[in-house]
Amino acid sequence: MDARLLIVSNRLPVTVTVEGGHPVVCPSVGGLATGLQAPHDRSGGLWIGWPGAVEGLTPEMRADVDRQLDAMRAIPICLSDREVTLFYEQVSNAVLWPICHDRIDRLPLHVEGWDVYESVNARFADAVAEHYRAGDLVWVHDYQLLRVPALLRERIPDARIGFFLHVPFPNPEIFFTLPNRHWLVEGMMGADLVGFHTRRYHGHFRAALRRLFSVEADNTGTVRWRSRRVKLGVFPISIDAADFASRAAAPEVTRKTKEYTSSSMKLLVGIDRLDYSKGIPRRLMALKRLLALHPEWRERVRLIQVAVPTRDRVDAYRRFRREVSSLVGQINGELASPTWTPIQYIHRSIPSDVLLALYRAADVMLVTPLRDGMNLVAKEFPAARIDDDGVLILSEFAGAADELTDAILVNPYDVDATAEAIHRALTMEAGERQHRMKRLRQTVQAFDVHRWASTFLEELAGMKNEE
Ligand code: UDP
Repeated sequence: MDARLLIVSNRLPVTVTVEGGHPVVCPSVGGLATGLQAPHDRSGGLWIGWPGAVEGLTPEMRADVDRQLDAMRAIPICLSDREVTLFYEQVSNAVLWPICHDRIDRLPLHVEGWDVYESVNARFADAVAEHYRAGDLVWVHDYQLLRVPALLRERIPDARIGFFLHVPFPNPEIFFTLPNRHWLVEGMMGADLVGFHTRRYHGHFRAALRRLFSVEADNTGTVRWRSRRVKLGVFPISIDAADFASRAAAPEVTRKTKEYTSSSMKLLVGIDRLDYSKGIPRRLMALKRLLALHPEWRERVRLIQVAVPTRDRVDAYRRFRREVSSLVGQINGELASPTWTPIQYIHRSIPSDVLLALYRAADVMLVTPLRDGMNLVAKEFPAARIDDDGVLILSEFAGAADELTDAILVNPYDVDATAEAIHRALTMEAGERQHRMKRLRQTVQAFDVHRWASTFLEELAGMKNEE
């Protein structure tokens, strides 16, 4: 029988809402939730994390939420307002996120809350230790919980612990701007297996280890770390490609796809959280540049840009939201005509049938982040293209670029080159488009999120057998 799996992530894969006076706990979808649901179900293990803001609920409602979570084998770690502000918004999202995405320019001038980051990580470690049984596998996720592996190792020295970083590990020169860089790396090295999306992030981490602690990984990626060995590996996350393909074929999605398609107007699509790492302003500038360099596209191309609101309690995000809205207004104001608006800007989340129809209707999908750990939109787009058509323009700075080599790869900082890439995509022969799209689809089908999870877990389970 499989070992029991204890999954530890900042957020539980649930959303709590109140309907008709009763709290309802719904499973949420998303890369991690989709990939780990099957191992969670199969192993009969636990998922430990924050259920979101439940502080406003009455004691009866809280008890009801706890019962529903219990039925899902989910263990809630509740955060106080102060913890949400300091651990989640400040340290995780205002400091670690920009550092991991090469954006030291977005750091706040004054940083506080590292003590709260440690104490929240310690509460996660305590909760794991409380439920741990000998033989369990523990899998800790992401940049909010960098200290958990070491804190858990102190509590349970022989636990089998995996850690996966879902964001990039930055170039050491950037990482070293953090005053507590040793302490963060020590936190991660409490694990037996540490996973990254790409060889580049793995290489950055090895370089950081070498320079901070003078330790070197051998050619199997194993590091001697104090009295233990820690393995470092590359595990690119993916999506449930078969599920995307079947949902994309639904009649409602097909109907909407037709609504969004027009023979006289080419459609460019961008779908992102409204995060400064996603490259939206330069993408808009590239569209403007396209219309200047190739004016024949005026009135013949439009961009639908979906920008999902995110982290709007963090200053850098509030400023960024204003920057983007104003740029959309400027470009549309300058270029629109009575019958045409170049950018349709949707600043909210969209239902999944609309998302799938946009993927299917797009002539060109623009995924041009300045830095992105993986970028799942880049994988969902080909998975949804059951017609084997459409062109993906992908930033070379997205983790997905390592696998999706049949996309048109661009440097998103090079606005002129991105504009030319859009022109090339819009004028690409059908034969080449289909050839590239078939290969992209094969790539995302061959290594899906279920294989991602099982590959990591097999490696973690196998490691202990060697000892
Ligand atoms: N997405 C969503 N609602 C929307 C638009 C997008 O849930 O209105 C999803 C999209 O399908 C994708 C995810 O959000 O699965 C974005 O993941 P990605 O890895 O591209 O970026 P992240 O937001 O994790 O940085």
